[in-house]
Amino acid sequence: MKARTGSEQWFAIAQRYLVGGVNSPVRAFRAVGGTPFFVERAEGCRVWDVDGHAYIDYVLTWGPAILGHAHPRVVREVQAAAARGTSFGIPHPGEVRLAEVVCRCVPSIEKVRLCNSGTEACMTAVRLARGFTGRDKIIKFAGCYHGHVDSLLVKAGSGALTFGHPDSAGIPQDFARHTIVLPYNETEPVKSAFAAHPGQIAAIILEPVAGNAGLFVPKPGWLEFLREITAREGALLIFDEVMTGFRVAPGGAQQRYGIRPDLTTLGKVIGGGLPVGAVGGRAEIMDYLAPTGPVYQAGTLSGNPLATAAGLATLEELGVVAHRPEDNPVYRRLEELGAALEQGLREAARSAGVALTLNRCGSMFGLYFTDRPVWNLDDAMTSDRERFRRFFHGMLEAGVYLAPSPFEAGFLSTAHGEAEVESTVRAAAEVLRRV
Ligand SMILES: *Cc1c(COP(=O)(O)O)cnc(C)c1O
Repeated sequence: MKARTGSEQWFAIAQRYLVGGVNSPVRAFRAVGGTPFFVERAEGCRVWDVDGHAYIDYVLTWGPAILGHAHPRVVREVQAAAARGTSFGIPHPGEVRLAEVVCRCVPSIEKVRLCNSGTEACMTAVRLARGFTGRDKIIKFAGCYHGHVDSLLVKAGSGALTFGHPDSAGIPQDFARHTIVLPYNETEPVKSAFAAHPGQIAAIILEPVAGNAGLFVPKPGWLEFLREITAREGALLIFDEVMTGFRVAPGGAQQRYGIRPDLTTLGKVIGGGLPVGAVGGRAEIMDYLAPTGPVYQAGTLSGNPLATAAGLATLEELGVVAHRPEDNPVYRRLEELGAALEQGLREAARSAGVALTLNRCGSMFGLYFTDRPVWNLDDAMTSDRERFRRFFHGMLEAGVYLAPSPFEAGFLSTAHGEAEVESTVRAAAEVLRRV
């Protein structure tokens, strides 16, 4: 066993001053047991803990680090921006440049509002949808996570799942009552909901590729169905692309699947590792936001110059403007790496005789220890959590860091290479034989 004395000491101190020793619940390793490691530094596709162990990182700060950690260009741009001032609260060119790139790349976005997190973006999108339509109800899908927004923290994915209280304490029944939760990838329940609440549903919000309960993808035709029924019923279609935006394609899942939502939320990759969120969409809807419209939204640090510098540097390095989406070599490379990892892990599970369902979309993947296909939260929940726990710790011991929960997605970056994928697959082949 690797000695983790440094991490253990830090975790003891952390628990004295931080709730549960962390600032975001899943980091506490509760779903897998044991002590979280504390990071000394991160570079490329690796993180080093305070005890000097290196890990190949498939969490990548939960998705943002698509170029790997501490990418030289991102670091340089952030340093240069910091020297010019860390926050203005006054309009500046950097925020306009980032907004322009987002509008040019994401097919359905004509105007954007930057904020500081994915949670804020989703909160704003829902408020905007309600303000624009004059309706109160929202449809969401079980297992989709849209940040810790009151009305959306109902049957949510991510940490809320493994913590056994998907309906968080502290949310008035009156808020949750306007949220209709339906199973992902099904059509009948959506039709019934519209029939049961005529003229009352403001929007459907969903992750077009669900990455917060492991990973499951939309069935062919399902997104088209949602687009069609929302348009017909006068409701908005909101794609939460906080995770998938600039990740599964330069223009996100909406580009990959060819669907135009009315509103889109972004975060993670567009901040290049700094705190950013964004909501964007049709200009007619976006103009409902203050100062042009009646829906209020604001932020002291919104459009922060360090965050916009990191985001812009990341998007430029990804070549999202320089290349047409279908010719982008960076995304092609990420796809190839994803396919290699998928194939290797499948092979490793097969030869170890372990039932593994692996879902992948580009450089995102989800692993389930189950013998059935996973299309929704119920399928995901059939994954053997005990086996995941043993697999997670075996991989960590072998120097591979996967998300410390059976219901989180994994990510690849441009800093991962064939060598890392091969050593990960080798480690998995060995660990799977004894879990
Ligand atoms: C991460 C995530 C959020 C929340 O973003 P934060 O920046 O953590 O607030 C919302 N929606 C999706 C799909 C996410 O993956």
